[in-house]
Amino acid sequence: MIARNSSGLQLTPQDWQKSLSEAVTDIDELLELLGLTRKELPYAVAPNAFALRVPRYFVAQMESRNPYDPLLLQVLSLADEKTDTLPGFNHDPVGDRRPETRLLPGLLHKYHGRVLLTVTGACAVHCRYCFRRHFPYQDNLLTSARLQEILNYLQNHPEVEEVILSGGDPFSFSDQKLLELVSTLSTLPQLKRLRFHTRFPVVLPERITSALIHAISTFPNTTVVVLHANHPNEISAELKAATEQMHQAGILLLNQSVLLRGINDDAKTLVRLSERLVDAKVLPYYLNLLDKVSGSSHFFVALEEAKRIMEEMLKSASGYLVPRFVEDQIGAASKVPLEGEC
Ligand SMILES: *Cc1c(COP(=O)(O)O)cnc(C)c1O
Ligand code: SF4
Repeated sequence: MIARNSSGLQLTPQDWQKSLSEAVTDIDELLELLGLTRKELPYAVAPNAFALRVPRYFVAQMESRNPYDPLLLQVLSLADEKTDTLPGFNHDPVGDRRPETRLLPGLLHKYHGRVLLTVTGACAVHCRYCFRRHFPYQDNLLTSARLQEILNYLQNHPEVEEVILSGGDPFSFSDQKLLELVSTLSTLPQLKRLRFHTRFPVVLPERITSALIHAISTFPNTTVVVLHANHPNEISAELKAATEQMHQAGILLLNQSVLLRGINDDAKTLVRLSERLVDAKVLPYYLNLLDKVSGSSHFFVALEEAKRIMEEMLKSASGYLVPRFVEDQIGAASKVPLEGEC
């Protein structure tokens, strides 16, 4: 959209940027929108250094007057987050700050053949269980000098055939910035796949504009978008419209989830999620066991329970509806799959 004002030609913010800036950041406002009050909640809420942040669209997908709504529990800042008592929870649960992983500012190279770029710290939503909630983004943002260093690194590592743009959320970038980034990366002849990890289609589907789809599809080889939905209630008609458009543009669509106590820790809910995702042309990819990040222990599901859920899913659904249950173990050569009995 282009508009003129007294200072000449200017780009006006797009609708999605406006919606993003109007995200709810206040606990009491969020509760009020849902017809709840602090007093009637069965748990204590409190602001936290990792601020509450949720787009109004996502709030509208929540059930009114339900303090246990599975979408609400993913974003609500609880008093308990400050007093994690389970052993093993810390600020860098997957080792992203270790020098052998973080090879350059903004570049994580852990696994063979692919690298992950933390292009921005900005997300449309703040998920309370996020394993990067304490990650020092300000030291890792993608400045043009850093991008140049990353390109040099990739030129010296022709075995890297895939770049993953993550964050934060890469779709926080403007279409123009994404277009420039994709066109820069497209100059590397070795790249066969360009992958985006994003929660925008789920929490703010209006972000998926035709300009965005055009920008990410200019990559000459395969473009992959990995969504992040945890519960079937997150799969709305708006999300479906967005994923259908990406599908029609030839983009491969996958989903990853996190196994979260009280939200999706049962086979029926997870099968329903997979069915709705496939309806929206999205294949279930990973179900990640919770990374033990400080502040998230109330979401923890024990390993034995996770295995039981996986086995129940395998017995009740088509193979492609069962995501791979994986754990991020420091030092491993890939995400580590859980072994089941079936
Ligand atoms: C999870 C992750 C990847 C992607 O792994 P896939 O198994 O290919 O999905 C790549 N790099 C880093 C640093 C990761 O944490
Ligand atoms: S959108 Fe992803 S990176 Fe952002 S807070 Fe949620 S889980 Fe973390």
